[in-house]
Amino acid sequence: MPEVVITCDWTMMSNHHGKEFLGFGTTTPAYVFPERVYQKLFFPEMEVDASGFPREAPYGMRKIEASLLDGGFDARIVHPSHLDRYMPGEAKVLLVSGHDYFGLNPPSSTFGGVMHKQPLNCVNFKRMLRQPHVLKARKAGMKLIAGGPCAWQLSPATRQKLPFVREFVESIGGVDSVVEGESDQFVRSIVRKALNDEFLPPHVVLTAKEAPKVEEISSIHYPSVNGLIEIGRGCCRGCSFCSVTTRPTRWYPLEKIEEELKVNRKAGTVKGLLHSDDVYFYGSPNIMPREEKLLPLLRLAKRYYDQVGWSHVAIASLMTKPKLLGQCGEILLDEKQSWWGVEVGVETGSPRMITAAMPGKVAPFKASQWPELVVQAAGLMNDNHVYPACTFIVGLPQETEDDVIKTIELIDNLWDFKAILVPMFFVPLGHLKNNDWFSRDRMSPVQQELFKRALSHGLRQSKPLLRDFFDWESAHPGAYRAVFRGFISFLEVVAKMNGLWSPPRGAISGLESPLRHPERIPTPTIPMRE
Ligand code: SF4
Repeated sequence: MPEVVITCDWTMMSNHHGKEFLGFGTTTPAYVFPERVYQKLFFPEMEVDASGFPREAPYGMRKIEASLLDGGFDARIVHPSHLDRYMPGEAKVLLVSGHDYFGLNPPSSTFGGVMHKQPLNCVNFKRMLRQPHVLKARKAGMKLIAGGPCAWQLSPATRQKLPFVREFVESIGGVDSVVEGESDQFVRSIVRKALNDEFLPPHVVLTAKEAPKVEEISSIHYPSVNGLIEIGRGCCRGCSFCSVTTRPTRWYPLEKIEEELKVNRKAGTVKGLLHSDDVYFYGSPNIMPREEKLLPLLRLAKRYYDQVGWSHVAIASLMTKPKLLGQCGEILLDEKQSWWGVEVGVETGSPRMITAAMPGKVAPFKASQWPELVVQAAGLMNDNHVYPACTFIVGLPQETEDDVIKTIELIDNLWDFKAILVPMFFVPLGHLKNNDWFSRDRMSPVQQELFKRALSHGLRQSKPLLRDFFDWESAHPGAYRAVFRGFISFLEVVAKMNGLWSPPRGAISGLESPLRHPERIPTPTIPMRE
């Protein structure tokens, strides 16, 4: 036992010191220091039991494991360092998952592209599948099926386009099947075929029509990394570069969410993340947040976790009901939690780009209000002790120099915003999947300036953020803070030596918070559907 093994590489099989955000560190190449330093900082090894089963595993893999277990399969997630217990021999099928197998997604593609080196996630993924016992099992007939959010990187089209992917796949004896999309149900049929030695389709793309209904999605049986729990799937905003938007929106009922909270709490997890592409929308059939849905969800999460974070939220959602964020804070913040984190897609400072590539992102406001909305939302978040990571996209096909300048101006206006700004190269996904990748060689001087400005902002804000980041619940908060402060200082020196330090001239000091200036909150201009 088990005959179906599910795994991923070491960068993903980690709890990142209990800080999901530190997982970003696995998307960079090892720079100056050896890889083991980065492992200690960003992806310490996950504990395992006597069978090599990890204490916690990535949530998406737990969902696949749960579906197979519910379907009566002998399947388990195994730590990548312990695959030799099951192969060659017992394991008949190996399922692999990953966020970014070859470092082609943002932000790995950005960091790898800028440094001209393979990021850690790519190095570790290849190393995992090249372990001698895995290769022996492959030769002995063990089937290999790849899935996860980056499954497209192993698709026949990507192999044809990128020779280094093709060469890697050949070196491990091929991949029997690549499955893209939500495979909660489909995984059972393909694994059954693999166990019966039947023909496996080399590439499967599951469409929105095949997306499972809420009641068809299994609840996890074993704990997820950092207590992450999904509350729903899909997003209705329709940004052209995003693959999430191609899926239908579904919200889980509270009972289903509680089932998974119980699993994590029983395993000793006391803090966790609520995951959806916009947590603020929980339970809403349109783009209006519903407090009668969101607030009970937060109360439920706080019954099980001492600290609750959010995976994502949209600027326009926050600004549609800004006072609701304060109500969320009243539930979440207490003597055991002083802040919460979330990822926010800002992407651009240009209203023109909003209209061209992501008109839904700003609804129900006007595209022309976007930069003001972002600054107001920044003040709103910081006033309510929300310290986000904000992404920006560089190199979208429609982008002009003027758009980039507007994004730089927005970053300047966010100079005192307590957050991390993450610029990322455009990657052809979603409705833009037939476009070309953006790369370092194609960066204009203005785009380079944008990168420098975001980096300078990040270095400036990350030291004060450390105080909140490693708080009372960390095992050795002082030691962690000291180590990471040292690492940030090192990056600061490197940035300055390489001409990458570029603060704005005449930076704005202090944000004008909407809570202090309520008259400045933009009013929605499009009638809202209830
Ligand atoms: S708002 Fe975010 S999740 Fe939704 S479509 Fe746009 S980028 Fe994707």
